This record gives sequence, structure tokens and C-alpha cells, in this order.
Amino acid sequence: MKNIRNFAIISHIDHGKSTLADRFLELTKTVAAREMREQFLDQMELEREKGITIKLAPVRMEYEVKISNFQFRISNQILNPKSQNSKFILNLIDTPGHADFQYEVSRSLACCEGVILLVDATQGIQAQTLSNLYAAIENNLEIIPVINKIDLPNAEVEKTKQEIKSLLGCREEEIICISAKLGTNCEKVLEAVVERIPPPSQEKDQFRALIFDSIYSDFQGVIAYVRVFDCEIKSFDKVKFFNTDREIEIQEVGYFKPKRIKTEKLQAGEIGYIVTGLKEIRECRVGDTIAAIDAKESLSGYKKVKPIVFANFYPESANDFMVLRESLEKLQLNDAALSSEPKSTPALGRGFTCGFLGLLHLEIISERLKREFGLKLVITTPSVSYKILLSSNKEKTIYNPQDLPDPSQICEIKEPWVKLDIISPANFIGQVMDLIKIYRGKYVSTEYLASAVQQRLILHYEMPLSSLISDFYDKLKSVTSGFASVNYELLDYRLADLVKLEILVAGDKVDAFSRIVPHPEAYQQGKNLVNRLKEVIPAQNFPVALQAVVGGKILARQTIKALRKDVLAKLYGGDVTRKMKLLEKQKRGKKELLKKGKIKIPQRVYLEVLKK
Ligand code: GDP
Ligand code: MG
Repeated sequence: MKNIRNFAIISHIDHGKSTLADRFLELTKTVAAREMREQFLDQMELEREKGITIKLAPVRMEYEVKISNFQFRISNQILNPKSQNSKFILNLIDTPGHADFQYEVSRSLACCEGVILLVDATQGIQAQTLSNLYAAIENNLEIIPVINKIDLPNAEVEKTKQEIKSLLGCREEEIICISAKLGTNCEKVLEAVVERIPPPSQEKDQFRALIFDSIYSDFQGVIAYVRVFDCEIKSFDKVKFFNTDREIEIQEVGYFKPKRIKTEKLQAGEIGYIVTGLKEIRECRVGDTIAAIDAKESLSGYKKVKPIVFANFYPESANDFMVLRESLEKLQLNDAALSSEPKSTPALGRGFTCGFLGLLHLEIISERLKREFGLKLVITTPSVSYKILLSSNKEKTIYNPQDLPDPSQICEIKEPWVKLDIISPANFIGQVMDLIKIYRGKYVSTEYLASAVQQRLILHYEMPLSSLISDFYDKLKSVTSGFASVNYELLDYRLADLVKLEILVAGDKVDAFSRIVPHPEAYQQGKNLVNRLKEVIPAQNFPVALQAVVGGKILARQTIKALRKDVLAKLYGGDVTRKMKLLEKQKRGKKELLKKGKIKIPQRVYLEVLKK
């Protein structure tokens, strides 16, 4: 155990985590040179295409320290090359950087004793650098500060060093400056991992392991990714799951290189996998403890995450409903943050209300459903959840605007608020503050990042989540020329003045277009929506009225003009009265249609409007 190091690389998105992991794989010869490709650990097709890490990825590397290179100390003892083994097992977990995947990071951290905090020298510390760092500190982990991309001409190494020093309170010599792309100084980082990160330790003499991820294999069933904390485990050992009390016989154990490699046993301190033989995804929950049958205490798991953004998914073809259901179940196995609940509407048929950690999460899941399961979907506008106190004194949480009860039955509506941290260069502060006002943000405080020379600020705000998930992020990027970065965290639910904006098409309410909006914005949003619908709903044989309604009051209205059919086309000459007669008939027909005319809105229209 003395020769094991478990660590993760954390940073803001795009600061080079996966690239540094590549260098480690090369330095330790874990992946053969001919198999090597950039961002090797990003195995998912979607990750490669978007250039981002979505899933945590564990890998075990073997590393032999060249002791002659430098004075080598472990736990303040000088390592003696003759008496001590200089071969180390390094377990790395590569993590995503984006706020929506924070949950992946927090799970990785629970399996590690230390982290590499990577900061891009051209960007400095950004919002998610901070949130990831705080998570590492909370977990009591050793932190190795590393500055990356020093090869770039616009790298500001000194400035970044100052920022890190004032943030961590560390000494300048502790910071390692590297280029993950060129490989400069990357070996120094590995040496620091061995030297500074403490080895794992054991508490109990019965087997216990924490499940930090799980996948489903068609051949082997559910495979749990675990960090073993105590004792060891082999194939055919009997163990139990703490949460469910389910007992199983282990089929196979092994570790990641990064492919799964079978081994005889997994020992305390190691990171690896267990083939459980379970067929039911739900019986192997991420965060649960796998332990010896008579173990008494579970390991402390993770905070359960709750989705905060919701959207309805409907298959374009009703026949695909079962496929959608199964696909969602499969994705949920290694994504505990994804929730789903059946939901049907007259217009769109049977589908699911799905819950996500944010918009990127939603986007990724819908892409995966499309690619990995071949599903064509209609997805409604993302919404937050609302807590409603009914006049009957009952509480109700809704995820769909359609489900908002009649105003007469509502005492109060509460909506979720987030704590928002924005890091921005000082010269954009004016624009940023103006923007946040438009999005109903409330100012809390300002902090300076590093010394006074440093012209960068951390702005602390509070904002309704619904504003944040509209187009706030894009707007912020554009007013700060891309320099600002954001991180957010759910705070609480607060009283809100909200109304349900409904759309009537030819006098009929269309549920899929309903949305919950702040009262003062209802008029403007209603107007925009009917204008938009006017463009996309195809014309009919009769004029179609589009109305935006709040509480029975019409706020905005548009009309789609009727198609004109030339009923006189077949008429050659003849008496003018024949012509009049035909026109009269058409007029009567139109009146009739107007009274009882129903229109079927094509799916394409929903898509277009919902896409905004
Ligand atoms: P991650 O999101 O933190 O995993 O970042 P990636 O490893 O995917 O890297 C993001 C981008 O930065 C990629 O285009 C890399 O090629 C680039 N990059 C990473 N490290 C360096 C470096 O040291 N120098 C330069 N010039 N580019 C780098
Ligand atoms: Mg990455």
C-alpha cells in the first residue's frame, strides 16, 4: 500500500487535463505508442468530437522513480533505493471540467488522496478552477499546483503563479510549470505525485469498497467501478451491497489500463472493477458500499445529486416509446444525476420528463440518445422545477409548465435560486453588472483575485435558475469577449411573481407551447412567441388566430392569413352571376371552417419553436 498513489487532475474546462493524462500514459508506458492518440482517455465518440471530457475515466499506471534524479522523500523519510521499492502504482482518474459534470468530479475525489490542480497560463484561475479546488479541500486532499501551456506565446506564467500563491497560500517552489502538449516538465509532476501525495491507509480488517461508477455490459451484466478501502477481494468471494442488502458472488475483479484487465485480487488502496453478475441496473447504486457479508459500517457515500433542469422527451414516432425507456435506463446506470418520469400529452404522445444537472448535461444526453440508440426525439423547452403552495395548504412540485394549477388555487409559487460566481477582467465589470440586472440577478459581493496589480475580479451574485438557463451564458460571453467564466450552485427556493403563459392556436390551447414566466415579462414573451409561431405554422384554408394568454386575458395576437384558392380558375367566360355564386360559396365555406376548423400542427413546428 505504501507504493500506491491515487489522484485526480482537476481544473476549469480546457485547461489541459486530458492532455496531461496522455503524457502520463506515455511516460509510464501504459499505452503502447502505436495505440496512442490525443486525449486518449476521452473514449466516448461525443467526447472526442466536442473535445470535452464528460465521464470520469480511471487508469492504473506503473511508474518507476529514478531516484538518482533528485532527493527523494516520502513522508519525510529519504527513500533509500537499495532498501525500498521504487516502483509505484499510480491510479489516475481523469475528470470533466464543466459545472454540469461536477458530480463526476466529486465522486472521483472521494477515491483519491490527492489532486493535481491544473491552471492554464493563458487564462489564469477560472470559475470552475475554484469550485473544483474547494471540493478537493473539503475532501482533505493534498493539492499539487501545476501551471500548463507555458509553450504558448501569450502564457502569463508569473501572473498565474501569483494567483495560485494567494489562493492556496503555497510557496512558489511548489508550483510546477509545464507544457502538457510538448511534454515539458511532465515527469516532474509524476515525481511530485509520488513524493507529495500520501499513500492510502486502511481502517478496518473486513473488505469494504466504494462504488464510484458503474457500467452495463451485455455479456457480463453490471460492472461496478470501485475504490477498495479495506482488505482485499477475489473472484467467487461473497459480498453485499449496503443500501440494498443484496448479496452476490463476485465473478471477476480487475483494474483499468485503461481497458479492463482481469486480475486475481483487488487490495486495500487500489482502484479497479468488480463484475457483479447483476442484471438489474438499480441494484448497484453509485455511492453504495460493497462489503464483506458481516461488515457493520458502510463507507460514507456521496451527497445524492438532484437534477435541477427539466425537459420532456418524446419519441417522434410513437413506436419508439419502449426504446426510449430502455435507453434512458441504460444511460441512468452510469449517470446517477439523470432522472426520468413518464409524461404524456395529447399533442406529443407518450414520453418522459427528464431531469438534468444543467443545459450541457441535457444536450449531451439528447445527443447520446440520438447516436447510441438511434432515437429521433422532440424535446420541450428546458424548465426548472417550481414549488407551489396550494390554497388547500398542500405543497406540490411541478416540472412542466402545463402542470401549473389554475391561479385561483395557488397561494404562492417558489422558484430555485443559484449562487453565481463570475470571474471577469475588471474592465468588463460595468457591462457584466448591467447584464445581470436584466436577468434578475442580485448583487452579493466582489473579491479581488490575487494582488491589487491583478485586474481580475470575482463577482458573487444570486440569480433565479430559470434566468441562468435561458441565454445568460451566451450573453455574458459576448459582453466580455469570452473572458468571463461562471460557476453556479443551487441555493434555495424563493417566492416569485410568476404566471403561466399559454398559447391558443385557432382557439385551442396547445400545451407544448405553455411556459412559466415572470409576470412583468409575460407581455413581451407572449408577443415574441406568437410572432415566431406565425412564421412557422403553415397557412390553412382559413385564417388561423394565434393568441398569447395569461389567466384568460389575451396579451398578444397574430393571424395567419388563409391560403387563397382560385375557385374561378376553371371558369371560362360565362355569366358574371356564376362567378359571384362560386365566390359566395367559398366565403360560406371559409366561415364554416373558421367556426369548426381544427389544425394539426406538424411536429417540425414544435421542434422549431422549442429550439427558440
Ligand atoms: P481538458 O478539458 O482540461 O481535459 O483539456 P484538454 O486536455 O482536452 O485540452 C484542451 C485543449 O488545450 C486541447 O486543444 C489541447 O491540445 C490544448 N492543450 C493542452 N495542453 C496544452 C499545452 O501545454 N500547450 C498548448 N499549446 N496547448 C495545450
Ligand atoms: Mg478532458
